Amino acid sequence: MKQKITMIGAGLVGSMMAIFLGKRGYKVDVFEKLPDIRKESISAGRSINLALANRGIRPMQQLGIMDKVETLLIPMAGRMLHDVNGELQFQSYGQKDEEVIYSVSRGGLVSLLRDEAEATGNVTFHFKQGLKSVDYKDNTIELQNEDKSVFHHAFEILLGADGAPSNVRKSFEENNVKGVTFDLLDHSYKELTIPASEDTNRFKIDTNSLHIWPRGDYMLIALPNLDGSFTVTLFLPNKGQLSFESLTNNEAVNDLFISKFKDAAELMPNLGEMFFENPTGILGTIRCEQWHYKNALLIGDAAHAVVPFHGQGMNCGFEDCSELDTLLDKYDDNWKKVMSVYTQARKHNSNAIADMALDNYIEMRDSVRDPKFHLKKAIAFELENKFPNQFIPRYSMVMFHHIPYAQAQSRGEIQADILNKLSNNIEDVQNLDIDKAEQLIKQGLTVLSDADL
Ligand SMILES: Cc1cc2nc3c(=O)[nH]c(=O)nc-3n(C[C@H](O)[C@H](O)[C@H](O)COP(=O)(O)OP(=O)(O)OC[C@H]3O[C@@H](n4cnc5c(N)ncnc54)[C@H](O)[C@@H]3O)c2cc1C
Repeated sequence: MKQKITMIGAGLVGSMMAIFLGKRGYKVDVFEKLPDIRKESISAGRSINLALANRGIRPMQQLGIMDKVETLLIPMAGRMLHDVNGELQFQSYGQKDEEVIYSVSRGGLVSLLRDEAEATGNVTFHFKQGLKSVDYKDNTIELQNEDKSVFHHAFEILLGADGAPSNVRKSFEENNVKGVTFDLLDHSYKELTIPASEDTNRFKIDTNSLHIWPRGDYMLIALPNLDGSFTVTLFLPNKGQLSFESLTNNEAVNDLFISKFKDAAELMPNLGEMFFENPTGILGTIRCEQWHYKNALLIGDAAHAVVPFHGQGMNCGFEDCSELDTLLDKYDDNWKKVMSVYTQARKHNSNAIADMALDNYIEMRDSVRDPKFHLKKAIAFELENKFPNQFIPRYSMVMFHHIPYAQAQSRGEIQADILNKLSNNIEDVQNLDIDKAEQLIKQGLTVLSDADL
């Protein structure tokens, strides 16, 4: 007899894990504090759309649902950089046709995952029922209904998929589990919308790009939606001369947009209104030393929230699900063993993507404006062609491959050093010293097998 699974949180990761477990024959009860977005019109919460990449796609292929997911996707082949004068520059993410990322609606994807979980016949979602506390002595949880009444539910295995503010993680801390850190970023974000063209729901800016307005200490980005609109996100310091704190009225918001993001401002007629209606979201990194306690386990953001600048939070959470499923196979559903191996396998990788996501904020808002950055990118592509399976640009390792994050991070550091040395005295990739490149690559980087990629 398989144990019954109690899951907290029916977000992206919880809903996907419910499919894996339902397919394995587990009976799963999922408690979600919010209403069901499939039945009630509610905000998708933070980030209306997200970038989906290979690490997030593979688990959906394993589940056999990728043909359905594809209907929700808009490919983005690269960054479209907008300078202050509205001049555009396209920067490809990769150099192979298949090296694209996809914009996907959070609400659309989570609805599809919930449908698929229910279709296993083993998963029951309980909406508007939020976890209050966990009692590990008698293995019960206390939940609260919408009307604030509370009830108890006995659990055998408890999965915390309740996102960054996780109450399951808090229950670990209440039981003296140490090693949880939360580093708040001193920048926050605000979501805005570029509406579709009125005539035929057509896109007002290039559809197949992730748009960036990089401005040094801050930036604006935009991802396309299927209805022709774009979800726009402003990332800005919390305090200081130009910050969320300083934008106190419509005039200040309009001044910022007209002086720094003029071409975007022209596409958002009700900018001031939107700005003050929409919430400002905080950003931060959560790291946990221990992802399990007794018969409870954390997955997704509950264990490892990362800042969104590599577009990997959800992708990493989906990789968690697939890895957990693989370990359940490997250890014959022995949860005690699986929980500890899973924590060891995932922890250093999620810490690595947390670091790389922080690095990528500087790349997106600032480095992309530097001609040296473009030269290094061109050299990296050249080296990838000449030394396949050995030199792979870091962005590609993270977004287009399955090389563990920690390995992508350490190889990326070696590669950054190689690129610094090779770009030092040249202005153009044509002048690349290929013998020197070969020598540096041989010294620093092993050849990866196709299976490692
Ligand atoms: C601005 C922004 C942009 C992002 N862009 C990207 C991107 O492009 N690509 C990408 O891969 N990732 C991105 N992310 C990260 C991504 O949103 C998260 O990694 C992902 O949502 C994590 O999924 P999750 O299911 O673990 O947590 P969540 O999505 O937070 O879901 C947790 C669920 O648990 C529920 N819950 C919470 N507490 C309780 C409780 N006490 N009881 C019951 N239910 C509870 C919540 O209501 C929620 O439904 C972005 C994040 C932000 C903030």
